[in-house]
Amino acid sequence: MQKGKISVNTENIFPIIKKFLYTDNEIFLRELVSNAVDASQKLKYFASKGDFEGKTNDLKINVKLDEKKKTLTISDMGIGMTAEEIEKYINQIAFSGAEEFVEKYKDSKEDTNIIGHFGLGFYSAFMVADKVEIDTLSYKKDSEPARWTCTGSTDFKITKGKRKKIGTDIILHINEESVEFLDKFKIKNLLSKYAKFLPIAIWFDDENINNTSPIWKKNPADLDEKEYKDFYKELYPIEDEPLFWIHLNVDFPFNLTGVLYFPKLKKDIDPNRNKIQLYSNQVFVTDNVEDIVPDYLMLLHGILDSPDIPLNVSRSSLQADGNVKKITSHISKKVSDKLHEIFKKDRNDFEEKWESMSIFVKYGMINDEKFYDRAQNFALLKDTNNNHMLIDEFTDKIEISQKDKEGNRIALYTNNKEEQITFVQAATKKGFLVLELNEIIDNHLVSAFESKFEKVQFKRVDADSLSKLVQQELEIESTLSDDEKEKLVEQFKSQIQNENCVIETVAQGSEDNFVTITKSEFDRRMREMYSVGGGNPFGQMPEKHNLVINLNHPNAKKILSFSDEQRRKNAIQHVYDLALLSQNMLKGEDLLRFVERTSEKI
Ligand code: ADP
Repeated sequence: MQKGKISVNTENIFPIIKKFLYTDNEIFLRELVSNAVDASQKLKYFASKGDFEGKTNDLKINVKLDEKKKTLTISDMGIGMTAEEIEKYINQIAFSGAEEFVEKYKDSKEDTNIIGHFGLGFYSAFMVADKVEIDTLSYKKDSEPARWTCTGSTDFKITKGKRKKIGTDIILHINEESVEFLDKFKIKNLLSKYAKFLPIAIWFDDENINNTSPIWKKNPADLDEKEYKDFYKELYPIEDEPLFWIHLNVDFPFNLTGVLYFPKLKKDIDPNRNKIQLYSNQVFVTDNVEDIVPDYLMLLHGILDSPDIPLNVSRSSLQADGNVKKITSHISKKVSDKLHEIFKKDRNDFEEKWESMSIFVKYGMINDEKFYDRAQNFALLKDTNNNHMLIDEFTDKIEISQKDKEGNRIALYTNNKEEQITFVQAATKKGFLVLELNEIIDNHLVSAFESKFEKVQFKRVDADSLSKLVQQELEIESTLSDDEKEKLVEQFKSQIQNENCVIETVAQGSEDNFVTITKSEFDRRMREMYSVGGGNPFGQMPEKHNLVINLNHPNAKKILSFSDEQRRKNAIQHVYDLALLSQNMLKGEDLLRFVERTSEKI
C-alpha cells in the first residue's frame, strides 16, 4: 500500500471546489463521463494501431446508482490506469489542473456559468462526494489492478486492486448536501442533457442513453432529407418542420461541425433565441450561445460542435477571440451562400418561403455588413400586388417612373395595406409601385437602405400628397386663382379649428382625392424611433397631421360656390371626416357625430 499527500500547498482546495461550484455542481457527471469516453476512445485507437489485441467493438460506459450505499459509479472499459499512472495523472497533473482553476477563479466575480465550463475534470467529483474511489486495471500487458481512495482532503491512498477486467470504475460516495444525485430521474436527466450524443454507448438503469453517431458527425452525402428532419424533430419535438438546413464541416483553420436549421419564423412572435446547442467533441456544453454567435444567427436552431471555442475564458474575451470571430463569419457566409443557392435553384419556392425567413434575413442585413452585401443576391421586397423583387430589380423598376425632379428615386411603402388603402390605391392608380414593409424591423431596414443607396428615398404613402411625395418635373397648374385658393383655405380653417391639423393645398389631377390627411415622414419616424427606445421626448404631445386640399378637384369650386354658410360648413366637415376616417383617425365624439349626421341622409 502506498500512502501519501497530494503535492500542493493549497490545503483548502476541496472546500473551495465545493463552495465555488455549488450552483453548477451537476457538471461533475459530464466531466467523469467524458473521461470515460476519452479512455474508451484511446483504447480503440491503440487497438487500431495494433498496440492492443482485445476487442473494442462494444465498449460501453455504465452508470450505476446504489441508493443504499449512497454511491454513484461510472464504469468504463477504456484504457485504465496503473498505480504509477494514477500517481501521475490524478495526484499530480489532474490536481494541479484543479489547483490552477481555484487560483484563477477564487476571487472572480464572473458568473458561475463560465466556471462550470472550465474543464475542472476529475476533481469536480468532490463537489458532490466526500469520498471518491478509483478501481482500475490498465490495458497494458501484465498490469496490476489498482485502487485509489481519497476522502476529500489532500490525503490519498493507493492499494492493490482486485479488478479483472480492463477499465475503470469511479465510485462516488455522495455527500449529505448532494443527495439529489442519488435520484434516478435526476441522473437520467443529466445524462440525457450532457451525454445524449457522446460517441461511446452509455447505459443507465438498463437503458441506452445516447446516439453515438449523430448526423452532424456524418458525411452529408450519406444523409437524406428525412434524416435531417427526424433529427430536428428529436431536438425540437414541438416545432414545425424546418425550412432548410446547413451542414457545417470545417477542419481548418478551426474545427467546426454541426447542422444549423432554419425554423419557420412567425411574424410578430418573438422568436426563441436559445435553440442552438453548443457541443465540444459531442459533449454538450451549453445552449446559451449568446456570445459565440451573432444575435441574428441565434434565430437559427441546431447544433454547433467545436473544440476550438474556448470555454474557460470570460464572456467578453470570448467575443474578441480569433477563433470565435472566424467561426461566426464562417457561419454567416455559409448561411448566405445557402440562401443564394436556394434562390437560384428555385426562385418561386424561395419566394414562397420568404415570409417565414424574412425577419432573419433583414436582421442579418442590419447587423452584419458582409451579410448585407451577400443578401443583395436573395433579399426580396414585396409590393402591394404580391410581386417579389430583388433590391436591384426594385430600384431599376422605379428608376424612371418614380424619379423626382431632383433625381431622387422615391420608394413608396405602406406598413398597413388595409388601413392605408386609399393612399395605396391613389399611388397604384398613378402606376407607382408601393412596397409592403410591415415588420417592426423594416424601420431599421429603410434607414439602412437609405444610407447605402444614393438618391433613393423611402416615403410612406400617407406621408404627403402624392404629387409632393414624387415631385415630378411636370407640375400641374392650379385651376383656382390665388384669391379663390386663399378663400377656400380660410373657410376650411374656420370650420376645422384643430390646432393639431395643418391645412395645406396642392394642385393635383381632378380625378385625385379632394382632401387627404397626411403625416410627415420625418415626424413619424422620430416618433417611432423614440417609442421603440422607450424615452419619448414628444411626451404626451398629440400627433400632428396635415389636411391637404386638392385645388383641382371639382369639389373645390363647388364649396366656394355655396352661398349658404351652413351648407358649406357641413360640406367641409364631411370631407374632413371622410379623410380622417380613411386614416383610421375618426374616433370618439367626432365619430359619433359623423355617424349621426350621415345616417340622417338616408
Ligand atoms: P483531463 O481529462 O482534462 O485530462 P481530468 O482531471 O479529468 O483532466 O483527468 C486527468 C487524467 O486522469 C486524464 O487525462 C486521464 O489520463 C486520467 N483519467 C481520468 N479518468 C480516467 C478514466 N476513466 N480512465 C482512464 N484514465 C482516466
